[in-house]
Amino acid sequence: SPTRCGASVRRIDQRLAMRRQVRGPTSLAIRSDGTSGHETALAGYRAVMDDHPDDPLSDAEIDAVVERCRADGDVELGAHDPRERFGWDKHAAKRRAPEVVDDVAELQKKLYAEGRSSLLMVLQGIDAAGKGGTIRSVMNGLNPAGVVVHGFGAPTEEELDHDFLWRIHHHTPRRGRIAIFDRSHYEDVLVVRVKQIVPESVWRPRYDRIVDFEELLSGAGTSVVKFFLNVSKEKQRERLQDRIDSPDERWKFRAGDLDDRALWDDYQAAFQEAIRRTTTGAAPWYVIPGDRKWVRNLAVAATVRHHLRLIDPQYPEPEEDIEDIVVA
Ligand code: AMP
Ligand code: MG
Repeated sequence: SPTRCGASVRRIDQRLAMRRQVRGPTSLAIRSDGTSGHETALAGYRAVMDDHPDDPLSDAEIDAVVERCRADGDVELGAHDPRERFGWDKHAAKRRAPEVVDDVAELQKKLYAEGRSSLLMVLQGIDAAGKGGTIRSVMNGLNPAGVVVHGFGAPTEEELDHDFLWRIHHHTPRRGRIAIFDRSHYEDVLVVRVKQIVPESVWRPRYDRIVDFEELLSGAGTSVVKFFLNVSKEKQRERLQDRIDSPDERWKFRAGDLDDRALWDDYQAAFQEAIRRTTTGAAPWYVIPGDRKWVRNLAVAATVRHHLRLIDPQYPEPEEDIEDIVVA
């Protein structure tokens, strides 16, 4: 209705005004004074924090969630609260997120320079779980030259004429790079299972194939880190409604999203079994609380930082004795 729509536009206007005020311009371009949009954003967050000086959020408090989110082989999704906030203060978390992303960017530079290892982030979740927003939040601050984002939609006819990993393997990150998958090979044990696109005798053996595949990647120097964005059914309703009501988000909505929503419990069961069957030391799953975007963004950034620190990339040794060279 026009009223809802008006309210929603007003809400977006307010959000944009606040974002401008808080973060400054969001462009990543390097300006003539040598600063980047990201630095401006950081400065903006620091300015905001001057109004909320009371709540520092330590690295240890941030890192603690990595363990808490990591899934093991008997994970119960029902035991993970989508509204979890880990005791974080919202303002502190919003201030810290770009700083953690900054650490990620620093590690990314080394990963790139070293050119030995790579990182694959897999993002899964139902519609409106926040896959796109998570990617924006992590990307905002990374060097785009070292990151590739790939979204996987319904397979083409040619893709269907191959094994289910054929279209995936090609997009795994080369040495030095980070790849982000917006959906992935997991769709082949999620939507394919729930919608009964192929019989169980076909999809069930895929868990083992996936474990083998990710072990192959890991052995070749690719750290595989998988995120399930855990939103509540009520929050999905709210976000889908927002999509329908906002002129600039309506394009994302497809009627099929409601069919998937009607199969909520089947999807949850499919996610849970997929995570249980494929969470390994080489390629762990993380269950990320998804209802609060600021919790989600910081938890994901912290987890990525944790895994890059495990890789521990180093700048290569320079050619000998270049310290004394003076460029004429
Ligand atoms: P979106 O991520 O909203 O752009 O939608 C992509 C759509 O592609 C979703 O509805 C997925 O369920 C669907 N999709 C992705 N991978 C597969 C797959 N392997 N088989 C069938 N459908 C898929
Ligand atoms: Mg969609």
